[in-house]
Amino acid sequence: MTAQIIDGKALSKQLREGFKARVGALVAQGVTPGLAVILVGDNPASRVYVGNKVKACEECGVRSFHIALPGDTLESEVLATIARLNADPAVHGILIQLPLPPHIDGRKVLEAISVHKDVDGFHLYNVGGLVVGNTIFPPCTPYGVQLLLDTTGTDVAGKNVVVVGASNIVGKPMALMLLQREATVTICHAKTRDLAQHTILADILIVAAGKPGLIVPQMVKQGAIVIDVGINRLADGRIVGDVDFDGVKEKASWITPVPGGVGPMTVTMLIENTLRSAERALRMRQTDDYQDWEAPVLKGH
Ligand code: NAD
Repeated sequence: MTAQIIDGKALSKQLREGFKARVGALVAQGVTPGLAVILVGDNPASRVYVGNKVKACEECGVRSFHIALPGDTLESEVLATIARLNADPAVHGILIQLPLPPHIDGRKVLEAISVHKDVDGFHLYNVGGLVVGNTIFPPCTPYGVQLLLDTTGTDVAGKNVVVVGASNIVGKPMALMLLQREATVTICHAKTRDLAQHTILADILIVAAGKPGLIVPQMVKQGAIVIDVGINRLADGRIVGDVDFDGVKEKASWITPVPGGVGPMTVTMLIENTLRSAERALRMRQTDDYQDWEAPVLKGH
């Protein structure tokens, strides 16, 4: 069997086409969706990521506010910047590019973002929402993976899903999102003993470890769906995932390539969350819910 390719680039393009009508509808009602991206310091990889996000926003008609702060910016100044953006009605989403310099407490900064503008979904309120199956903004990478899985037409309920990687931004939220859809979920990580013993049982295998070549064909069940979240740059400059693509594609039924799989979806879901935030803000202004704007409430999300 040779796996069918799950084409993240094509799905991204299709979704971004669909965004145009939503942006048009917002603009017609006097709202231009806006995303603020804060970069502290000059980490070259972060600069590339921020550049990609800003460019994608512009292509979709989302106004971007790119705030570049020097690497020695005080934590209090970062918090003051967030407070200003929280209060700015032109800004519907706020994103802090991670990692932050070591003198800044990342958790404190993430908690300072209004839950109503937390389009990365990293605020504790949104993380907690995942646990009870009711988050405002699902985190972008697992959200994108979920849509990629949907394109295969597979109902995840009752399936064995193995997530390799347990980070706060990918593995853990991914597992919670699929548990919510009634999959039987196993989470593996660097301390897991005999990884293959788990992965071989997976109907759906999602890999986000950041280790090139981690998943080889012997670890994959015949006919499994394999989603490779990993992005690794090899010494020769090539970008590869965590899965031995050429080997595993002969066993899987569906597989994502790297690049062109999960990567493009992450930025697309960031724009989706920003549009949702703008639509939500408009709705709140048009109804009595405006009172709730500053207070996180569990109703009506
Ligand atoms: P992380 O370093 O925060 O977490 C890695 C996780 O993998 C940890 O839970 C760790 O225990 C686990 N792990 C490491 N080695 C392992 C092993 N040998 N066996 C089993 N588990 C192992 O990384 P992250 O931020 O979650 O990112 C993971 C990968 O996904 C990276 O390659 C990153 O570049 C990529 N990524 C891609 C996107 C995208 O848009 N495609 C987004 C975020 C991250």
